Formats: sequence, structure tokens, C-alpha cells
Amino acid sequence: MTENQKKQIDACRENGLTISAIANVTGLSVSAVKSYCSRRNNSDKPFEASCKYCGAAVTQPKSRREKHFCNQSCYFRWRYLQGDLKRTVYEKECAYCGKPFTVESNMNQRYCSRACYHKARKGDHGG
Ligand SMILES: [Zn+2]
Ligand SMILES: [Zn+2]
Repeated sequence: MTENQKKQIDACRENGLTISAIANVTGLSVSAVKSYCSRRNNSDKPFEASCKYCGAAVTQPKSRREKHFCNQSCYFRWRYLQGDLKRTVYEKECAYCGKPFTVESNMNQRYCSRACYHKARKGDHGG
């Protein structure tokens, strides 16, 4: 690999190209680009990302999986925003008997009970 090719790889990486795209551009093999990039990553300063919740800088630990949050509480708040940790009770109306009922997080539930569900499936519209 020539100095020129290394510079090309660096420029491509700055532009966000993928390994295989860089391989195409430089005419090098994917594995050559990959090994060059991983060597570069190890010598680089710690990569900083921003917290998905509060936007604060998160220093990425070396040889660990990527961190997206500056701390645990940001992580949980973010999860909460995504609805993962929400225990909201939804008020719905039974699609069969019309009776109001509540469901916890299951937005697909359309009937107040299994009985209504089965009756609706059978096409029996009650009496
Ligand atoms: Zn944060
Ligand atoms: Zn019902």
C-alpha cells in the first residue's frame, strides 16, 4: 500500500464511505482497506459520539461496544421516550360489543375479551 493510497483511504473515511466503497475507489482489496482502517482506529484518539438523549459528548471506550449514552439515566430516559419502558394504559372500545376496556401497551388488541374476539371471528354479531 502506497502513502498515496493511505491518504486516499483517509479522505474516503472522512467522507463516510464504507470499506467496500473505499476498496473500489482505491483499487485495493476489501481486507487491505479493513486492516488499514482498524490499525488507524487503534491509533486514533478516542472517538467521541454524542449522547442519544442529551447530546453530551460520549467518549467511546476502546475495544468495547459502542456507547450511545453518557450515563445510565440518559439511557433509561431515552428508552422511556421510545416507549420501551412505558406502561401506559390505553383506553379502547371493543370492536365487537362496544364495551370500553383498557389494554396495557398491546395496541393491537381490539376486543374486550377472548369471547368477543372469537364471536367476531365467527361473524356472530350478537343479539
Ligand atoms: Zn446524556
Ligand atoms: Zn367485547
